[in-house]
Amino acid sequence: MPEEKVPRSYISQRAEGIPPSGIRKFFDLLLTMDDVISLGVGEPDFNTPWNIAVAGIDSIEKGITSYTSNKGLQELRDLVSSYLSQHYNTDYDPDDEIIITTGVSEGLDLAVRAVVDPGDEVLVADPCYVSYAPCVMLAGGIPVALPCPAEDEFRVTPDALLEKVTKKTKLLMINYPNNPSGGVMGRDDLKAISDIIVDHDLLLLSDEIYSELTYEGRHVSPASIETLREKTITLNGFSKAYSMTGWRVGYLCAPSEIAGAALKIHQYAMLSSPTMAQYAAIEALRGAEDAKDRMVAEFRMRRNLFVAGLNRIGLPCHLPKGAFYAFPSIEGTGLTDEEFAERLLIEQQVAVVPGRAFGSSGIGHVRCAYAASRMDLEEAIRRIGIFIDSI
Ligand code: PLP
Repeated sequence: MPEEKVPRSYISQRAEGIPPSGIRKFFDLLLTMDDVISLGVGEPDFNTPWNIAVAGIDSIEKGITSYTSNKGLQELRDLVSSYLSQHYNTDYDPDDEIIITTGVSEGLDLAVRAVVDPGDEVLVADPCYVSYAPCVMLAGGIPVALPCPAEDEFRVTPDALLEKVTKKTKLLMINYPNNPSGGVMGRDDLKAISDIIVDHDLLLLSDEIYSELTYEGRHVSPASIETLREKTITLNGFSKAYSMTGWRVGYLCAPSEIAGAALKIHQYAMLSSPTMAQYAAIEALRGAEDAKDRMVAEFRMRRNLFVAGLNRIGLPCHLPKGAFYAFPSIEGTGLTDEEFAERLLIEQQVAVVPGRAFGSSGIGHVRCAYAASRMDLEEAIRRIGIFIDSI
């Protein structure tokens, strides 16, 4: 008898090991429906400010479309360095400590691959952006959820950190202002965990993509705290503050040894970030402060309106201090967050994302992006109210 041939799997175990996205199902369903108010997608609903777009168009018109240096345009790195220093009191050398990346998404991948070895544990503040755990797994690391529940206002506390840290822990990943909760960590909160980070010789990966979208005081960058400066990899970008999600430009800042390792990966995996997007980003930092402030003011107004509406109809919601997400508890409805999101979409055509998609601390919550017009937000509140009354 000839030996039966077992079909070969071409898919790597790492790729195979990535769990399916908890959000996909809702977006697939959403695409088949009409008259949906979508509070599902995490991107600003404004056009990119026109002067920024023109800077990108200009670079194309002038034929400036070749690769840039691997690190990114010198002018952009200089501007990023002085912008971070003015806004967040950090001190990054544009030559050795800053790399322009293809969005924060690439920065996350570079940072994790630069420092994580197979078997290293990576603490991920939970709830968090959906790509963190897959990113760690693709680098061969072990993501470990660090619970940051609603009662702690979704912040990392020293007790929670001490409970999860082990000898194998290499990195702590945080994102404040936070997606999905809108939570922030202030200077005192960061100082409270800084000793643990130092004592256990951990690195801190701080994704600050929403840093400009704060509504109760300025964002605090961990790298501005002296003891954390050499321990921190800072990621930021242009997608959210300047409504530039499709341009794909961001930056990674880190002490030179780590930045150098990230650059080695970047130069082979990406070569350089899109040239026209880098010119657009220069304009964002030079001439879009007013446009950005107007967008932030509009988000603040929407947040106030939407969160007041949620509380009025009986969905308790912490006042989110940053980003553009509200993360109400739906536990009082007796439904799971998945049931709530699915039924709300089918019965009232409002799309929200079940909190569990962002980790176990998100269970019992739904994420509502208030990156929608005030009229849509008011209508969404009306429909959610009808839905809750019908349960
Ligand atoms: N980090 C967080 C926390 C996000 O919410 C997002 C997008 O939603 C990203 C990173 C991706 O950013 P970028 O568009 O710069 O790749």
